[in-house]
Amino acid sequence: MDYLFDPRPQPSLPVRGAAARFPVGRIFCVGRNYAAHAAEMGNEVDREAPFYFTKSAHHLVGPGSHPVPPRTGDYHHEVEFVLALGRAVDPADPMASVLGYAVGLDMTRRDLQAAAKAKGRPWSTAKDVEASAVIGPLTRAEDFGALADQRLTLSVNGTLRQEGRLSEMVWSVPEVLADLATLYTLAPGDLVMTGTPSGVGPVGRGDVLEGTCEGLDPVALTLT
Ligand code: MN
Repeated sequence: MDYLFDPRPQPSLPVRGAAARFPVGRIFCVGRNYAAHAAEMGNEVDREAPFYFTKSAHHLVGPGSHPVPPRTGDYHHEVEFVLALGRAVDPADPMASVLGYAVGLDMTRRDLQAAAKAKGRPWSTAKDVEASAVIGPLTRAEDFGALADQRLTLSVNGTLRQEGRLSEMVWSVPEVLADLATLYTLAPGDLVMTGTPSGVGPVGRGDVLEGTCEGLDPVALTLT
């Protein structure tokens, strides 16, 4: 193939214990999937239907140092449990599509999100932000074991800010996958960020964030 200029590199994630990397296709994100976080954002939880937004796979970065993006005075952390799909979703057995899991940070320009919400506009400039999908290495599903009440945490400069259990999701992982598969033809390489527990808040240059989930490698971010 002859291109006018070099294409961007294929975004990918390392897999614990494997030499080959996981090539990332799309990044889907679930909104308001923990009741306490929905409440802190001023929303009632409903079970009418989950809702989604997306981030470009080119906004994926690994753990390390990354800049605070421009035009925000309220850059927020959201720690999330991330699904990595290895095959198309079978609605009768959605979990069979999951190749592995990771801890991720859905970094958010909250001030731009609030302005968008107020005007009924899209969230793209708040959520689909360069270096805003910070995701750690994948652990294969069979190594992680069954989804239960694993603890998900986020600390900033060593102080615990967010804490939740996977069992507290409003929409469970299989429910999210089954629903998302009615909207999109999910494919190997797709990631799903499954929402954040309560305790989100602002961070800035020099802050050191660490997201953890029992059974997974942590993800660390230093903001520059
Ligand atoms: Mn989120």
